[in-house]
Order: sequence, then structure tokens, then C-alpha cells
Amino acid sequence: MSATAQLTDTPHTRTREQGRILLVADDSTSACYREPLEQAGFAVVGVSKGVAAMVELRRTRPHIVIASTHLTGVSAEELARMIAQAQSSVPLVFIGAEQSSCVRRAAALAAGAFDYFQLPAELNVLLPSISKLVKLQQTINRLRAEADRDYLTGLSNRRRFRNALGQEVERWRRYQIPCGLLIIDIDHLKLINDTHGHSAGDIAIRHVASSLTEMSRDNDTSARLGGEEFALLLAGADETKSYAAAERLREVVSATVIEPAGRITISIGVASCPAQAVSERALYAATDAALYRAKGDGRNRVCIAPSLNSPAPPVL
Ligand code: GH3
Ligand code: MG
Ligand code: MG
Repeated sequence: MSATAQLTDTPHTRTREQGRILLVADDSTSACYREPLEQAGFAVVGVSKGVAAMVELRRTRPHIVIASTHLTGVSAEELARMIAQAQSSVPLVFIGAEQSSCVRRAAALAAGAFDYFQLPAELNVLLPSISKLVKLQQTINRLRAEADRDYLTGLSNRRRFRNALGQEVERWRRYQIPCGLLIIDIDHLKLINDTHGHSAGDIAIRHVASSLTEMSRDNDTSARLGGEEFALLLAGADETKSYAAAERLREVVSATVIEPAGRITISIGVASCPAQAVSERALYAATDAALYRAKGDGRNRVCIAPSLNSPAPPVL
């Protein structure tokens, strides 16, 4: 029985989360190995002949890259370096027709690949090896995603939010694309907890989280910063759009009666870059100060931070 047939016969080859492979090789090599890889349960998500592999890498987001040692226009070692420079943790495996020797395998390891396999002779070793690497990569991806998520709501956590905020302000600096920030705090959550129990408070938190998710677009970041405090980072939104989004969110949250707490309200601070602040730290501080004002002014309201070019308020 051939190695491929053996692997095809195993019941676990077609897993729910299929291993995604980017194959970097010339046409004849790709044609030879695409099928055995697919028969073994992997999805070949991209095929590239050389340097274009970097574009394919970003486009297809594979779990593993399998590259021939005979490429046109770029050496396998150069490719390994480019993948490492792209700060992609995707594992790379070399394949070739030459005899697999200690020297060749050591060279592959030194270049940054996981191993070298002689094909077709070592197909029965290659397939289980990449299967293990794919599983490892899937675990890393899952843990990475969990590390960025808030457990109670599934929103981004503070860590992910801080990264996104840095990126958005950087986008302003580089490309003059504005962004808006909303910081949201549930009104009187302590009272809800004290009156209806802690799980009612959790339901209120989840209700606000789902309203945030409903309102945010693909490039926005909705986050739970901690406790009953949230943030919505609006990519490409100026102060007018940010304020309108905050008002809409406030209305959406209070429009629904939730059990057992009833109707809940939120207070929101708003600031945008560049109208109210031009640095990450200042944008956060301005938004937070606006939220503080919204609470002080009576809650269930939106307050926007003062514009940078507006005259300073008189000192009383
Ligand atoms: P304010 O309108 O001034 O924001 O009043 P508040 O009661 O919401 O604010 P305060 O800061 O006095 O209290 C926050 C409350 O939020 C107290 C805390 O127990 C509760 N809280 C924080 N995290 C959670 C959580 O994960 N679940 C629940 N149920 N309550 C939480
Ligand atoms: Mg609160
Ligand atoms: Mg609070």
C-alpha cells in the first residue's frame, strides 16, 4: 500500500479545520504533489513559483509553507529569510528531488526551515510531519486569538484595543486617515448587581457588548476594557461621524428591555483624531475625560471632548 493510500484511509484525515498549505514550486513539482497533499486531507490554498509566494502568503494565510529547493528567481534560503522578515510564524518545509542527507537537512534547519524531505521517496514521512506542524500552528493561532479576547463577551480585550489604537493613530500620521474613539461605561451597574444579582450584571455587560458588535464595521475595534467599561474605535471616522455613532449606540442599548434588570443605560465619552487629539495617549485621555463629564452631567448621555483649535475654557 502506498503512503498516500495509507493516509487517505485514516478516519481523521478530513478534519473540520483543514490544514492549509501554500505550495511554492515550479509547475511540474506542484502538479505532482498537489494531489497527494489534498488526498491526505490538506487544502492547498495557494501555489506559487517563487517571489510571488510572499503575496500569496499574505493572501492565503496558510498553516504551513512547503517550498521546493529549486525555485526560479529566488533561492529557498532567500524565501526562508523573507518569510522570517515578514514576521510570519508560519512553518516552512523544504522539498526536493535530491537525496535527503544529514548535510542537506542541517542546511534546511540553518536556513530557517523545519526539515528537508526528498520526494517522492519520503512522502510517507512528509505527510505526518506536516500534519503535526499544522496542528501546532492551529493551536498557536487559537491561543493567539484567545489572548486577544475578553472571556465574558468575546470582544477584543484591553491589550488588543491598545494595539489597534496605536495602529489607527499611526494611520492618521502616515495617511491622514482620521479615527474616532468612544469610551463607554454602564450606568449604575453596582445597583443592578445589588438589586438583581451578579449574573444580571453579567447579562447587562453582554447586552452592551452585543450592541457594540452590531454597530461596529469590519475595520472597527470593539473592546471590553475591564469591568463595565468598553471602547469602540472607529476607523476612518471624523468627529461628526464618531459623535453620531455614539448617539446611535446609546439609543440602541437603552431601546431593549433585558431580563431581569430592565432597561439599562450607558454614558459615552467621544474624541477623534485629529480634531480632539493627535497622539494615542492624548486621544485616550480626552475620551476618558469626556466620559467623566457625561457621568457628572447626569449619565445616559454622550459628551465630546473639546476641539484642539477651540479656545481654552475660561479659568473660573
Ligand atoms: P456609574 O454609573 O457611576 O458608572 O455607576 P456604577 O455602579 O456602574 O459604577 P461603579 O464604578 O460604582 O461600580 C462598577 C460596578 O461594576 C461594580 C462592580 O462590581 C461591577 N462589575 C465590574 N465588573 C463586573 C462583571 O464582570 N460582572 C458584574 N456583574 N459586575 C461587574
Ligand atoms: Mg458604571
Ligand atoms: Mg466604571
